[in-house]
Amino acid sequence: MTDFVDGWILGHTLGEGAYGEVKLVINKATEEAVAMKMVDLSKHPDARRTVRKETTIHRMLSNPNIIQYFGQRSEKNMEYIFLEYASGGELFDKIEPDIGMPKWEAQKYFRQLISAVEYLHSRGVAHRDLKPENLLLDENDNLKVSDFGLATVYRLQGKERSLDTRCGTLPYVAPEVLERPYQAEPADIWSSGIILVALLAGELPWDQASAECPEYEAWKNGKYMSVTPWKKLDKFSLSLIKHILVHEPSRRFKISEIKKHAWFRDNFSEDGNPIERDVVDGLRAKRFHKDEEEVLMRTCLSQPELPGKETNGLSTFTIEERPGFSFSQPAHMEDLLLSTQLQTLAYTQTQTQTSLSTFQKMVRRMTRFFVKTECDTTVKRLISCLKKESYTYRINECGIITISSMDRRKMPLVFKINIHEMDGKILVDFRLSKGCGLEFKRRFLKIKEKVDDIIARDSSNHRQVS
Ligand code: AMP
Repeated sequence: MTDFVDGWILGHTLGEGAYGEVKLVINKATEEAVAMKMVDLSKHPDARRTVRKETTIHRMLSNPNIIQYFGQRSEKNMEYIFLEYASGGELFDKIEPDIGMPKWEAQKYFRQLISAVEYLHSRGVAHRDLKPENLLLDENDNLKVSDFGLATVYRLQGKERSLDTRCGTLPYVAPEVLERPYQAEPADIWSSGIILVALLAGELPWDQASAECPEYEAWKNGKYMSVTPWKKLDKFSLSLIKHILVHEPSRRFKISEIKKHAWFRDNFSEDGNPIERDVVDGLRAKRFHKDEEEVLMRTCLSQPELPGKETNGLSTFTIEERPGFSFSQPAHMEDLLLSTQLQTLAYTQTQTQTSLSTFQKMVRRMTRFFVKTECDTTVKRLISCLKKESYTYRINECGIITISSMDRRKMPLVFKINIHEMDGKILVDFRLSKGCGLEFKRRFLKIKEKVDDIIARDSSNHRQVS
């Protein structure tokens, strides 16, 4: 296998972004794993400016709940961005469509999200596209905000400016963003509130926060109690959400107020009840010290930035040159090599014995299942199901099925089905390419239900598939 960069090898595809794939890259000697975002400028010439802005902003940031930026490489028509690898997958994978997740878990992720947003705002940065698809999880299940493609600096040397670009993902966008101009901080806080609804109810409250949307008008006018998602939420959760999803940005809760609200402040136990105060305070004090130390360490490690090669006025680094390129992740070579093999394993019969447990450790993805049928039969069953559901699909020479469709909101939804053979078993792996993560998960569950008779019912399937 040829090295991608001296000493580094290319692993499997982690996901797909607006301008290209994100791949895993592994250091052969140290076993470090890094995520690499690839942008093909010949296909997306407009991406050059976006990438420049994204990397300029991302490299300023260092926080335990934000994906760490490691460096960038510019080649002829390709841009490579190197990022901390989040092995726990995407947050939306943890959200059960139309159900959500337990309150204590939602609280944990929401706190981590607010901590990241607070940090971003302290640096004068607005994310502008907060949504579960841009929230990744590390190996310890900690939330990491990613994708700074739409981020901007709204405060520089104490001078704040209002923003004028309508951007983001419609159901998560604050009402004032649609009208413009708007203030950065309340807009990010609004999106965080919509994320909280998605975590607790497994659905989004409206297509967009504007007068054309009856669900939004009902919410604004206080006539919402008997409708979903609100009727699924308890009064306590609703009381926080009501302070966040306030139409008027100046009356919307600020981060300091969110942090003081009892829903945010008092820990829920796994049965959904608040834990007694003295226990909570002890836990909080411990966590505070640990987080502070980590922030300090990371900041020190990443500063000062050594000058790199100048390309169009921007410094670029190879991953080896990047100062402070250090992080700790249990990136065992065995697992990572396995993921590399998976690339070539797709849709082929092979004698290679791969271990199920190592694969499960590698990517905690819920949108997949094992089947008891052979590869060909599996593909036939999936295709027949897609036909019955009137999906538009195509299948490439590697056996990857790409499905193109529209979601409930008439927005494009594209996802892929990848079929791997491992350990003598066939794994059917679904991945979102474009569109709403929750809608993708709904479609996955529906297709899974239709092919239920071929799903292997062993303990490993029960563990991983909801
Ligand atoms: P993006 O281009 O940032 O929208 O990323 C597209 C997809 O790639 C995400 O939804 C993730 O599934 C995956 N991905 C991006 N960055 C990382 C990362 N740092 N670690 C693991 N997976 C990632």
